Parts: sequence; structure tokens; C-alpha cells
Amino acid sequence: MQSSWYWKKIVAVKEKFKSFINAGQFTQLDYSIKKGYLLLCPPQTRVSWSNEIWGRLNVPNHSVILWLTRLDRLKAKQRLHKIRVIPDSSCLLCGQSEENIEHLFFKCPFSNRCIKSLKEKLGWRVKTEAIYPLLRWISKAKVSRFKKQVLAAFVAAGVYQVWKTRNEVLWFQ
Ligand SMILES: [Zn+2]
Repeated sequence: MQSSWYWKKIVAVKEKFKSFINAGQFTQLDYSIKKGYLLLCPPQTRVSWSNEIWGRLNVPNHSVILWLTRLDRLKAKQRLHKIRVIPDSSCLLCGQSEENIEHLFFKCPFSNRCIKSLKEKLGWRVKTEAIYPLLRWISKAKVSRFKKQVLAAFVAAGVYQVWKTRNEVLWFQ
């Protein structure tokens, strides 16, 4: 019988949980979901960029696209070309280079203008060459938590808008 992906994950987590504590201890615990989560994922194992990707001020759609970008999971043309789904990998926005994450969000003349404009509006002087260093910069910056949330929301919105524009070009081709 085929089990669903979710069910398999729940069973896997249960097994992992059992390896941490025994049933006797478990019944004596004042258990909460948060305590269970911390047991399975101690704070030091959390990725450093999760606060920026899932920031409180981020629009959920923007967070998802930013997360996929960070994981290099967006279906940019280079990816699809590599597995022979499409015949060419040229950038939909400029046609001058191969469309991969780095080009699409940072090196493409279109996204470069968007980033420049955003940075000017924010008065933000930071190098913007790739998504990970940018998120790390925000996470380590010596600014208030609120300002970090604002910067993260701007990055997420910028990435989302470039991806949306790129998809609109694809649809109207
Ligand atoms: Zn381009």
C-alpha cells in the first residue's frame, strides 16, 4: 500500500523523537509543541537566514519565492535546459546571458536597475551579488530588529517582482 508523503514524514519524525527520549520520560514531561520542536531542532541547527526569509513583514508569496531562490530551486531556464525540457537557456528579461538564479536576480540589467532603485530608496549601501550574502548581511547587521525585518521584506519583494516579471514575459511570448 502507498502511504502519503505527509504520513511518511509523520512516522519518520515519530521514530526520530523516540530516539531522543523513552516513553517513561515522555509521560512525565510537561509537553508542548514548542518543547518538542526544540528537542528535534535545537536553535544551533536552525539556518541563519530563516528569520530573513520568513520575516514578519514579508508577504507569504514573497517568502516562498525567496526561499526557493535561496535553495536554488526556482525553475530558471538553465535548470530546465539542463534536463532538456527547453531548447535554450537565454535570459527572458535581457536575452544576453544564461538564465540562472545569480544572473536573473543580480547580474541581469533589468534586475540590476531594480536593485539599484531599491537600494537608493532605502539608502542602503551594501554589495548585492548573490542572495545568500545579502540575507546574511541583514542577519548580522547592527541595526534594529524592525529595520532587519524591513530590509528582508524589501529583498523578498524585489526577488518576487523580478520573478513575476520574468514569468509574465514567458506567458506573453
Ligand atoms: Zn538577463
